[in-house]
Parts: sequence; C-alpha cells; structure tokens
Amino acid sequence: MPEQPDIDHILREIYATLSPRFGEGKVADYIPQLARVDTRQFGMAVLTLDGATHLVGDAETAFSIQSISKVLMLTLALGKHGESIWNRVGREPSGSAFNSIVQLEAEHGIPRNPFINAGAIVMTDLLLAGHTPREAIGEMIRFVRSLADDEGIVIDQAVAKSEQATGDRNRALAYFMHAYGAIRHPVDHVLGVYFHHCAVAMTCRQLARTGLFLANDGRDPVGGGSVVSRSRARRINAMMLTCGHYDQSGDFAYRVGLPGKSGVGGGILAIAPGHAAIAVWSPGLNAQGNSLLGSVALEMLAQRTGWSVFG
Ligand code: GLU
Repeated sequence: MPEQPDIDHILREIYATLSPRFGEGKVADYIPQLARVDTRQFGMAVLTLDGATHLVGDAETAFSIQSISKVLMLTLALGKHGESIWNRVGREPSGSAFNSIVQLEAEHGIPRNPFINAGAIVMTDLLLAGHTPREAIGEMIRFVRSLADDEGIVIDQAVAKSEQATGDRNRALAYFMHAYGAIRHPVDHVLGVYFHHCAVAMTCRQLARTGLFLANDGRDPVGGGSVVSRSRARRINAMMLTCGHYDQSGDFAYRVGLPGKSGVGGGILAIAPGHAAIAVWSPGLNAQGNSLLGSVALEMLAQRTGWSVFG
C-alpha cells in the first residue's frame, strides 16, 4: 500500500506557490454577477474516501458552479433514461468552444457530447420528460443537496435571471436543435431549467463532497448509499476526462491526468478514482474559459500525490 500523501501540507504548498499569481486570468463578464467577482480569491478542497476533508484558502466561499452542473445533468439524465441518452448526444471531444454553433449544423443538430452547451441543453430536455420546469429544477436541487449532504445549497436567483437575460447564444443553439427535433420540449422551458442548473452556488467543500461518489465506484463513501453503478461512475469519469474542459480537454488530461469538469465561474471538479474528489476555485479564466490557476493547482496536486488515471 503506497503511503497516504500529506494532503494538508501539499495544499499549503500549492497555496503558497500560487499566491503571488492570485488575480491572473480574466473573469467571465457576460453577466454582472460573474464580472464583479474578485479574481484574487482562491480555494481548494480535497475530500478523501476515508471521509477526511482538507481545505485551503477560500474553500468555504460559495461561487457559481456554471458548467460543472453538466456532470449532474448527465448523471440525472442517465438515471432517468439509461444508455438511450446516447441516441441524442455524442461521446466525442468537441475541439470547439463551449457554445459553438458551427459543429452543430455540420452534425445535424446532434451535439458532440453532454458537456458542451448544446449537449447539456439536450440533457435538460431529457430531464423535462414528464415534468414541469419547476419540478425538474426541484429534482435537480434535491439531488445536489442529497449528494452534498447539505440542505443549505441554493440556486443563485440573480445569476439565473441574468443568464436568461443574456442567453441569446444558448437560445440560438436550442432553437436550432428544436428545428432538427433534437429538443422536444418548448425552448423556453428547457433553457429555464438549464439556466437554473448553471446558477447553483457551492463552496469548494460542498462541490468536492457532491462529486465524492465518482471517486468511489458510484457509492457515497460517507453515507454508504449507492448513487450510480460502478460502470456508470467509470463512464461519467471517462466523459469528464475526454470532454470536461472544452477544447482544452486533451491538455488537461495531459497535464493533470484526472477526470475534471470546469465552469466559467472559475471552478473545477476533479476526480481521483479510489482516492478523492477535489474542487478548486479561482475565478480568473484562460483563453479557453477554464480556470487558469485552478488548472495549475490541480496539476501540482496530481504531481505531488501521484494521483492519475494513467497509472
Ligand atoms: N451558463 C454558461 C452558459 O451557458 C455556462 C458556460 C460554462 O460554464 O462553461 O453559457
């Protein structure tokens, strides 16, 4: 059995190394709630399978999880519809920006994967089957709270409203897919639910707790319940590894070697199967819309712990 790394020490080291760089990168500015976030914040949480919680920096400050919610949308859609979801969305890295329209036309309205916006919008359409938008939103937030074992997690209504107000590009994607029959519910219902998913606010600690089942073969190591089957957990991790960072997914796999999903709020959820769930938050983004220092921090953590899905 390899020695358990000293995670608290590693986190302190990462924090000290990166602190001169806090503030690097550019915040997402398409809505005021993200534009005004102080870029100098940095937090990281590592939750190991033995139930230990390791925190550094602003790990207890809530931020907008944005596209990290796409992992939850995929998990819920798989739970509701099983493997048939793959008739509606692909499983290939996109190599394009998160909100690209070009590829969608070339591929007849079938999104490349569930983690680009178009794919997540299709997942949301699947979650609406048999539900009103309000029920679908309720189901999602209950799921998040039960995974995180925290009733305090909320949707930031101001963010949801701003997403609605500025969401023309997502509307364009959704109408386009509706024209192809790739979306079956009214576009405003689907996007209403999608925007509320993106607007969930969580701290690094809550986010890592939410993802812990993915590090433990689909079971919650603390509560003991099964969230998804072992093979499904592996497959969700495979999607995160290959598609979790938009057109930078290959680079993230190369540098970090762990499944991860980023959001434009500056958060990243990473999974070290058999070891831990990790959440990092640093609002400054790189050119591909992924947290700049968050990716560097994960690269340092992976190097120092030796965690990798590649052996
Ligand atoms: N709410 C954002 C959008 O739909 C999410 C994008 C992201 O986090 O990458 O445009």
